[in-house]
Amino acid sequence: MLPRFDQIIDKVREYNPGTNVPLLQVAYLFSAFAHEGQERHSGEPYLIHPISVAEILADLKADDTALVAGLLHDVVEDNLAVNLDDVASRFGEEVAHIVESVTKIEARMVRSTSETMEWHNIRRMILAMVDDIRVILVKLADRLHNLRTMEHVQVDKRPPKALETLELYAPIAYRLGLGKMKTELEDLGFRYAYPEEYEKIDQAITGKRFVSDNFLENIRAHIEKMLREMDVEGAVQGRTKHFFSIYQKLVTQGIDIERVYDYLAFRVIVPTVKDCYQVMGGIHSIWKPIPGRFKDFIAIPKENHYRSLHTSVIGPEGNPFEIQIRTFQMHQEAENGISAHWRYKEGRLRREDENATMEWMRHLLDWNQEAGTSTEFVHNLKMDLYPKEVYVFTPQGKVLSFPRGSTPLDFAFAIHSEVGFKCTGARINNKLVPLKTCLRSGDRVDIITSPSGHPSRDWLGSTVTSRAQRKIRSWLNAKEKSRAMELGRSNLDRELKRLHINIKDAQESGELQKAFRKVSLPDLDSLHAEIGYGKISARIFVKKLLPEVLEDPVMMPEIPVKPSDGAPVIVHGTSDLLTGLAKCCKPIIGDDAIGFITRARGLIVHRRKCRNLVQISADPHRMIEVEWAPNAGTTANQEVRVVIQAEDRDDIYTNITQVISDSKARLRKIEGSADSHEEATLRVLLGVKNLTHLNQVIGQIKKVSGVIGAARGW
Ligand code: MN
Repeated sequence: MLPRFDQIIDKVREYNPGTNVPLLQVAYLFSAFAHEGQERHSGEPYLIHPISVAEILADLKADDTALVAGLLHDVVEDNLAVNLDDVASRFGEEVAHIVESVTKIEARMVRSTSETMEWHNIRRMILAMVDDIRVILVKLADRLHNLRTMEHVQVDKRPPKALETLELYAPIAYRLGLGKMKTELEDLGFRYAYPEEYEKIDQAITGKRFVSDNFLENIRAHIEKMLREMDVEGAVQGRTKHFFSIYQKLVTQGIDIERVYDYLAFRVIVPTVKDCYQVMGGIHSIWKPIPGRFKDFIAIPKENHYRSLHTSVIGPEGNPFEIQIRTFQMHQEAENGISAHWRYKEGRLRREDENATMEWMRHLLDWNQEAGTSTEFVHNLKMDLYPKEVYVFTPQGKVLSFPRGSTPLDFAFAIHSEVGFKCTGARINNKLVPLKTCLRSGDRVDIITSPSGHPSRDWLGSTVTSRAQRKIRSWLNAKEKSRAMELGRSNLDRELKRLHINIKDAQESGELQKAFRKVSLPDLDSLHAEIGYGKISARIFVKKLLPEVLEDPVMMPEIPVKPSDGAPVIVHGTSDLLTGLAKCCKPIIGDDAIGFITRARGLIVHRRKCRNLVQISADPHRMIEVEWAPNAGTTANQEVRVVIQAEDRDDIYTNITQVISDSKARLRKIEGSADSHEEATLRVLLGVKNLTHLNQVIGQIKKVSGVIGAARGW
């Protein structure tokens, strides 16, 4: 049934005695003419819609411009014979601007997909709102009436609009402090976006109604009595909380509807701020307050200027309920927000409200510049407006809540650590998605695991819950530690082996424990880890274990070097033999040497303590004593390897090569590798005359600043 337009005019006159009634009437007639013959989904005349929108705007105490724009908001979209110029010439630019901003540009007109178009339309409207807040008031009123009549819309077409309302329009209404509008948008949006959940709550609350009614009456009587005793003239309202907030509570707390007791809320409205605090004290003296639930939004208003005192108390029979206490003015502002103190005509906000709201709107403009596409813009907007939590379903239908931005990985770790660790993929609403996909309310999440699955470092960037991050981090640390220990163990073992140190002997002699104390480590495992992490060098540790060790010839892994032709040795008084110097131990003139008779290469001269020789000495008959030829060793052509342990400094190479050249040795090859961030090993291939010469060279190298040790290499 058509709301009577003169009733709306009466309503407007009440709050705006100076309203231009003829203008409103002309707008009404213009709208009636433009929508002539059109019908709503209900089959009713279309005109019912713009009139209802105007009525909602009147409830918000909107000015004439907004009311006219509300009456005309659909004329351009729905009637091709009417264009914006007509609207502008008859009703002015401001009205035309609002109408234009809420009018959809059809995808077909600009060759774009309907979804991108949708984002584009929203962006256009939001930006227009920054210029004139009445744009969004008209849009909200439009959306509210469309939801109020949504039962006439085909079932499958309801959820998209309903979800958009929950994600976008209800939060915008909240931001603008339009408490009543926000509540109704949420409940209707919830009803059509999640019909089954809505139905469940509806039934449960209806089932409790009898109990509730008695409870509400009982509490109300108590509070009214208290107000009389305090001599405060206030109003007490008792109500069932709105369904969407009950739903959110169920989901965040993961409890069943049957277990929700505090679905009842009271509001006490009193004349002054002082009364608010007095009433609060009185209520706390009747019923026990629930700790942590008292909120003073009078001292510290919410971001949308909302002011009230909130508390929850334990009522009769242990049933908790919530109470809001506020002044009449605060109530008016909480219900109708910015429009409670509307500055008429300009469509702008009162200065004191302007700051915070304008701040938010400036953000919108920033995003508009940053966001490339309308899709991004609307996404940013939703992220900003959306409740801090999303609610998603397990495959079993259990609801879990997560902070905004959570991913299937957060979900997996919330189920169980093992599910998290073994997670290899996820399905959202039966569709395979990347693990970094953001969860959205209503998503059904299915985690795919595999026994070979394991966390990786980038998971840290794909999770937001502290639980998931903690688990991933500790897994990575443990993994890293075991790798470090493995690495450290093999480094240390190699070093010990190289120096023929038996760790068990060192342990028995107490040397090992002494060395642990020197590096302040408790045991071998932590030593392995420290070496693996590169915090301690295996060589340094071994040096601490047996400080004198490094002075001995240092052996190093085989570096292939060409065998020399012939060895300057005399065997049994003759030099006329097929001889060669061993590649493995590279003896030089002056070394304590011994010959080994090979089958094909003649006599190979080794150093006496050559490890290889020890292994092949099974046949002592093939070993033969040798002497160095007395005339040999005058030119620096005896190849020898020297290993230098030094601080990892830029100038170390230069200084060492300088010393070598000063010592008249020949530098054939030099290579270095950093052991840790502070230490390096240099491997040098030198040409020297003989052992004496070599010892001189090594002595000089050891004197170079930064050199920790130098020794002949194996
Ligand atoms: Mn409309």
